[in-house]
Amino acid sequence: NLKTMAIDRKSAIDAFLSRPKDIEPKTKQKISEFFAENVFTKEKLQAYLTKSSFIEFEEVLSENKKINRELADEIAMALKSWAIEKGTTHYTHWFQPLTGATAEKHDSFFVPEVEGGKGIEKFDGGALSQQEPDASSFPNGGLRATFEARGYTAWDPSSPAFIMEIGGGKTLCIPTVFIAYTGEALDYKTPLLKSCTALDKAATDVVKYFDRYAKKTTATLGWEQEYFVIDKAMYYARPDLVANGRTVIGRGPAKGQQLDDHYFGSIPERVYHFMIDLETEAHKLGIPVRTRHNEVAPSQFEFAPMFEEVNIAVDHNQLFMDLLDRVSRRHDLIVLTHEKPFAGVNGSGKHNNWSMSTDSGKNLLSPGHTPRTNLQFLTFFVNIIKAVHDHDDLLRASIGSESNEYRLGANEAPPAIISVFIGSYLTKVLKAIENRATDSIDEIDEQELKLDINKMIPDVLLDNTDRNRTSPFAFTGNKFEFRAVGSSANCADPMTVLNTIVANQLKEFKVNVDKHIDAGDKKDTAILKELRSCIESSKKILFEGDNYSGDWEKEAKKRGLTNEKSTPKALDAYVSKESKKLFVDNEIFTERELEARHEIRLENYTMKVGIESLILEELVLNTIIPAAIRYQTEIFNNIAAGKASGFKNDALALPINIAEQISKHTTALRDGIVELREAREKAENAKSSRAESVAMCDKVKGLFPEIRTHVDELELLIDDKVWPLPKYREILFAR
Ligand code: ADP
Ligand code: MG
Repeated sequence: NLKTMAIDRKSAIDAFLSRPKDIEPKTKQKISEFFAENVFTKEKLQAYLTKSSFIEFEEVLSENKKINRELADEIAMALKSWAIEKGTTHYTHWFQPLTGATAEKHDSFFVPEVEGGKGIEKFDGGALSQQEPDASSFPNGGLRATFEARGYTAWDPSSPAFIMEIGGGKTLCIPTVFIAYTGEALDYKTPLLKSCTALDKAATDVVKYFDRYAKKTTATLGWEQEYFVIDKAMYYARPDLVANGRTVIGRGPAKGQQLDDHYFGSIPERVYHFMIDLETEAHKLGIPVRTRHNEVAPSQFEFAPMFEEVNIAVDHNQLFMDLLDRVSRRHDLIVLTHEKPFAGVNGSGKHNNWSMSTDSGKNLLSPGHTPRTNLQFLTFFVNIIKAVHDHDDLLRASIGSESNEYRLGANEAPPAIISVFIGSYLTKVLKAIENRATDSIDEIDEQELKLDINKMIPDVLLDNTDRNRTSPFAFTGNKFEFRAVGSSANCADPMTVLNTIVANQLKEFKVNVDKHIDAGDKKDTAILKELRSCIESSKKILFEGDNYSGDWEKEAKKRGLTNEKSTPKALDAYVSKESKKLFVDNEIFTERELEARHEIRLENYTMKVGIESLILEELVLNTIIPAAIRYQTEIFNNIAAGKASGFKNDALALPINIAEQISKHTTALRDGIVELREAREKAENAKSSRAESVAMCDKVKGLFPEIRTHVDELELLIDDKVWPLPKYREILFAR
């Protein structure tokens, strides 16, 4: 997996310089003319089904019911007709195994007959509902011994099927979950769907305090995807980018982002063509991307769609990342979704904007005009804060990965401390509730308090909330924005955790409110009482200041908030006693599933650090040291020539000094690599996968910076003409 192409720096620059300059943008149609044309939407399905079958299908979706075989057959027929009319030849169950990428196995509709050389296109409810991909090579964390490596994919009717156009061919993709034969989940989607169900149940029960007719609550997600775009030739001339998506060495450019002139600046022409192409593909697949702009760092950009149901939004984000890769290559560009491809340059995140809405379309996190709707808003708002407070370690774990580790706690990203920002208005509101009638809330004038609250909450919070770009979890007017999610992550993990902790909290909330009501309180008094107690017990998670500052680390420590910088250790939160209880109680994971996932995350961490250390070793030994020695030879020749011409050592002090410095750095590099190898071998012999991961983090990854320093010093010493790898300035500013 360290396959690299032999492109050197000079040919990479030549390739870039000879790219065609005038690219004709594709003719633009109105987006509405082709939006979702490759998606089998509910409207399209309706046209193929009988009225009663369609109603039955809608019930399946709204009540999470099972689909019977006849209905599955009917839908399969409909799907087949639609897909074949559109020129599709193959179908696949599309799923999200724990590798991080999406997976598919294509089967043709066409089934040849044994005799007669003919055949027909076939596809039925069975093929739609279930498939058995060869699952032995997907990560399972020990859930399946390889001899019984059987897993199956099962149709997820809540996410619509779509047609993927790749290289002229068309494939019908059916979103599915991926499960072991023993029933354990092997993918991201299964627990996500379960957490949606748990949240729906818990939230709807609470909404009913305010709206008796509420039937369903849906979690919504709007992701913002940041990424870098670089020239393809530069990419292939950097084996570290090819292997890890990150440069393990390289000096920062003289002109970096100091001037901040890239942010919201004009998008370079070439990148713009790519974006138009990408958007067209995304729109055909029904991905509602809307905004595109430059980000802070050079060559960094962002896309954001309209928010959708979390399940659909997760599928769309995975599809979108797939498109980013495929479409960029058409333009001789490469997209990097790694969290920190370039040291000293801003990294990339994937902000997850999250909220909940009811079946009547009401966003539970936007305040209303009346005291009642505002009480409803506050109820959800406060319960979410309490949930984050109680499970900050788990949220931290949900965003932990080898690559996100480079970003968290760097100067432009939240630290590993989870805190919640709510803005000054809402801080005042919570204070008011908390301070009211400290011991006898029964005496308070409930109406008066509600009117007070109402006065403090403006009708439209969205325009009134202040922003805090440094907070990992910020309220932004009508949703929370979980900003610590990594740009390469599947959103499903953090969303599963968020849904689950909020569901659990709402369940507890309801139990307590009902207790107060049983004891004689009026409903609203009971709610206010319970809200006050939540505010009191969770206020230490609220933080309005600068999360990037050193002071916050100290303050957070005083408050007793978790601040685990090491990913392998942060992952412990997944298998703590509290987490096991939380996930089992809410029927999201069994203990075995949690253990397996924990194992997979650790393995993944270890593997990634292993690959990085190997590529660093390879670059240092095969590329950097030889280049340094060659240049040193040139200097030795210079010194010899100088001496031959009668120069004294004094007059040759500079070349001698450069040659000595080169020796110092190359020797340090050789020693560093020896140390790195030993540390890696030692880590590999660790007793458990956790111990191995921890050693990889502290002992192996910990050696990278020192090695890098010597390479980066050499980059400055050695003649620019003979430096073998594209430099940051070339990678970041070649457009
Ligand atoms: P910004 O946060 O950059 O100022 P917006 O507030 O317009 O921009 O929205 C950012 C993201 O939040 C978008 O992806 C949008 O779809 C999403 N978003 C807006 N409302 C909701 C909601 N109710 N639930 C989930 N995501 C939402
Ligand atoms: Mg935002």
